[in-house]
Amino acid sequence: MLKVKVLTIFPEMFPGFLGYSLTGKALEEKKWQIDTVNIRDYALDKHKSVDDTPCGGGAGMIMRPDVLGRAIEDNYNSGRIIYMSPRGVPLSQKLAHELANEENLTIICGRFEGIDERVIEAYNIEEVSIGDYILTGGEQASQILLDSVIRLLPGVLGNNESLEDESFENCLLEYPQYTRPIEWNGKKVPDILLSGHHKKIQDWRKQQAIDTTKQKRPDLFKIYLDSKNS
Ligand code: SAH
Repeated sequence: MLKVKVLTIFPEMFPGFLGYSLTGKALEEKKWQIDTVNIRDYALDKHKSVDDTPCGGGAGMIMRPDVLGRAIEDNYNSGRIIYMSPRGVPLSQKLAHELANEENLTIICGRFEGIDERVIEAYNIEEVSIGDYILTGGEQASQILLDSVIRLLPGVLGNNESLEDESFENCLLEYPQYTRPIEWNGKKVPDILLSGHHKKIQDWRKQQAIDTTKQKRPDLFKIYLDSKNS
């Protein structure tokens, strides 16, 4: 079972949307577990302050290394330790698969202008970004990361096959999907999908995935071509 520990100043934000749908059901079924640690509990002053002004000046506040350090020391035992950060390695389906194979994950959620650099160095923390934009906090980012990981855990998705054809699994985006009614607003579902020819449908979908990727994500298409030629 994947055990997740989240260090945050907003523990009440968890499990958040992870408590719904497939990830919520998996949580109930103990396919994964989440513990939150309130970083504020490790502040020693009467105001419970976790942040201070940046050395060298500039806007905003920085999370203090002493408070966060104590929270880590008291709660981290083993496994990968991740700080959600716009400077991190971009979250990818590959990384999600990697993390889904772990037993323990510790995730630090930043607030304000982020955390003191020395904490990142001291605990060998990996930085992971969910994209090139800035959020107000790591809590939202951590839930997105965890959502992508949890749905890959064994038995979380009903049908294991639904994973294989998904976007990014083979450096390709997913082919277009249709359901009933067969005709809607004068538009029909492509005949091939109604033909019952399993092999022809498979070939059509593969070609559609290739065409879609080439058109919508030329950067990804290049990686697909390279992976085929290597
Ligand atoms: N001053 C920082 C941004 C701080 S945003 C900078 O310019 O890099 C506050 C917190 O939100 C961060 O500490 C981080 O934990 C989280 N966060 C913001 N954007 C994120 C992103 N794209 N990916 C992951 N975490 C993010």
